[in-house]
Amino acid sequence: MKISRVEASYLANVPTTPPPYRKEPSKGNMMVLEIETEDGLLGYAPGGVLATPTTVGFINKQMAPALIGQDPLLIERIWNELTLRFMPRAYSSVWVGALSAIDIALWDIRGKCFNQPVWKLLGGARSKIPAYATFGLPPIYPLEELVAEAKYFASQGYERFKVNVGRFTHTQGPDEDASRVKALREALGDRAQIMMDSFCHMSGPEALRLCKLSEPYNVTFFEEPVYNDDAKVMADLRKRTSVPLASGQTHQWSYVQLLMNDAVDYLQPNVANDGGYTAGLKIAAMAQAFNIPIAHGNGSGPTNLHLYAGVANGGVLELHYINWMVYEGVFKSVPKPLNGWVEAPEASGVGLEPKEGIIREHRQEAT
Ligand SMILES: [Mg+2]
Repeated sequence: MKISRVEASYLANVPTTPPPYRKEPSKGNMMVLEIETEDGLLGYAPGGVLATPTTVGFINKQMAPALIGQDPLLIERIWNELTLRFMPRAYSSVWVGALSAIDIALWDIRGKCFNQPVWKLLGGARSKIPAYATFGLPPIYPLEELVAEAKYFASQGYERFKVNVGRFTHTQGPDEDASRVKALREALGDRAQIMMDSFCHMSGPEALRLCKLSEPYNVTFFEEPVYNDDAKVMADLRKRTSVPLASGQTHQWSYVQLLMNDAVDYLQPNVANDGGYTAGLKIAAMAQAFNIPIAHGNGSGPTNLHLYAGVANGGVLELHYINWMVYEGVFKSVPKPLNGWVEAPEASGVGLEPKEGIIREHRQEAT
């Protein structure tokens, strides 16, 4: 079997379903990569946040020629050849976003070749994953709407919720963030799991104050608490608070820094940003060696669910509402969370097939 075509497209203005408390029409953008074999197998990969129109140009103009004629099942070989060829002079979000999409499309082909879903090929640890809802974005919702939307997700069977903190152009600081967490705890009850995420938008002292104020509300984890994901600052924070810390969605091999510094309670590999399933498997194994579970935290849930279902230390999956709706806008069949759980799909490969004509209709010329 040989690769005969590699084509990335940037889809713009795909109509999507707005969040429950935002009724106006919404639209989303997404890169979609297609890799085709001579015998007609088609592998698809949705791009993550690092996959921009620049990534599309990089894949089509520079990486595609290196892939044509290769055996798509030799993923480890291809992954390492691409790394040696491009990384020394192109290490950037463009490079790793492109490598991730190529890896995901190749695993899609591998799954279709063996008639198995990718999560089973990655280990098949569980067929059902607990999901949590991330809501109230963007920008940061006023408190009343935040609570109303949380109650909506609770009415849909969710028992796990994540709230954005640390965006101080929208809130006054840690004290207001803590009051929003308190309001959610009161609205959702004692059994609900509540997570916080600052997108690396807080200093160490700000994060510590928020942790101290939030300790009474039993926060399950605090994701990307500090600027630059600084491992030493997180390690220090972790010693001073009982709130568990989570991080790592854009680290690739620097995950080892988080582990060696005892900086996290949960590691967060992201197949869309770290180098696909090939890197995800290795990062999950690294975490397991440190007795650390992995917990998903990024907008690329429908591809990441295969990793988190596949490995034994896989944990919760994020339903980032707005991003999940972009997947639903682009692909025919996206796993639907039910009562806060997502069934791992039985379809061969990744299970994401673009809707008829969507790539042609929304394709934007690459720059
Ligand atoms: Mg996050």
